[in-house]
Order: sequence, then C-alpha cells, then structure tokens
Amino acid sequence: MDKAIIAIDGYASTGKSTLSKMLSSHLGLPYIDSGAFFRGITFLALEKGWINNENIYQEAIELGIKDIKIYYNTSDNKLILNEIDITDKIRSKLVSSNVSKIAKLPFVRFFILKQQRLMGNSFGMVMDGRDIGTVVFPNADFKFFFTARPEVRAQRRWEEMKANGYFLSYEEVLKSLMNRDKVDTERKFSPLKKANDAIEIDTSDLSLEEAFTILISKINYK
Ligand code: C5P
Repeated sequence: MDKAIIAIDGYASTGKSTLSKMLSSHLGLPYIDSGAFFRGITFLALEKGWINNENIYQEAIELGIKDIKIYYNTSDNKLILNEIDITDKIRSKLVSSNVSKIAKLPFVRFFILKQQRLMGNSFGMVMDGRDIGTVVFPNADFKFFFTARPEVRAQRRWEEMKANGYFLSYEEVLKSLMNRDKVDTERKFSPLKKANDAIEIDTSDLSLEEAFTILISKINYK
C-alpha cells in the first residue's frame, strides 16, 4: 500500500501494538509506536529527577527536552534517546505508572507531535496511540479505535510483563491500567477518545487472528 496513514487508537492493552505490527508487515508500511515517545520522555524525567512520587518539575522538563534527540527506528522498533537504545527500559513499572502524568503536559505533546507528523508525512505508516486519529492525523486514510474489558486487558498486560521479567500482581496491573485510562481520557489536551469517523473494535473476545481479519476486511472494503 502506498503512503497510506493508518491511525490505531484506544485504551491500554487492547492489542493495538501487536495488531499494528501485523498490519504494517502485511501492508508494507512502517509501524510507529507513539506511546514509546511518551515513555522515553518519562524515563528521562525519572532519571533526571524531573518527576518523582510527589512532584513534577514542569520547568525542568520543558527546558530539558529542548536538548534531547529522540527517535523511533522503524526497521527494528527501537526507541533511541541521545543515541542510546532505551527500548527495554521504557516498559518498567515505574515508567508505566508515571507516563500519563508526563503525557498530560502540553509542551511534551507538542514536542512529540512535530516528530510524529514528520514521520507520517514522509513515508505513510501505521501509528498507534491515543490521539492519532483525533489530533495527530485527523485526515488519516483509516482510523480504528480499540476497546476491551478492563479485566481482559489487565490479564494480557500481566502476562506480557511477566514474560518481560516484571513480576507484579494482577491487581496491581489492573489498578495501574485503570489509573492510566482515567488520566488519559480526562486530560485537557488531546484526551483519549474515539474520532467520529473511527471504526471501533472490541477485542475482548477476539483472538489476534480474528481481530486482524476484521481490520483487513475494513481496509479492503473502503
Ligand atoms: O501505548 P502505551 O500504553 O505504551 O502508551 C503509554 C502512555 O503514553 C499512555 O498511557 C498515554 O498516557 C501516553 N500516550 C499518549 N498519546 C499517544 C500515545 C501514548 O498520551 N498518542
């Protein structure tokens, strides 16, 4: 497929990234994980002490991100910060529990938005996130919005974290997911919401193959 922009938004752990990757290889389009950028900035903010359990030092973040180089390598899905591969580090519990606080900040969103648009305009791509169809690419060729029941999502995330060496209880994972969804949907700038023209897919009772078949059929049908 030539230069198409496919926006996949939705709640955490609904299968967005796995299905986006499947779609990207099927259609021969690059895949960009936009959440990775927000996680990358959060990782940096934690390292630098710009955010901790009690405080968030907005001025330090605003100033600090001016000097960084962050990019997403579409050939191997790696997130590179100041020439260092931080792909594995951004999945930690600490990053996950702080990322929504960082993603709320308008100057962080603006900083990332510029990069997202640059990448999409030059190649076409499949991008997943929270505001791709509403704000980043409102004219995307295809827009999907993924949902799933919270218990199903928490179970998936718990299994994924366990496989990556992070051992948390199911209850902790569920609580963290619900908290992230709340902050993401209630924030003032670019909240998580379905674009009017997005196709909604509830993945709770679908296998990956079933969800993929639905996606492809919607794309072929259009
Ligand atoms: O996609 P992932 O779950 O890794 O995203 C992590 C967090 O990054 C989200 O919970 C949200 O706070 C933020 N995010 C965002 N807008 C996007 C993608 C992610 O605000 N387009």
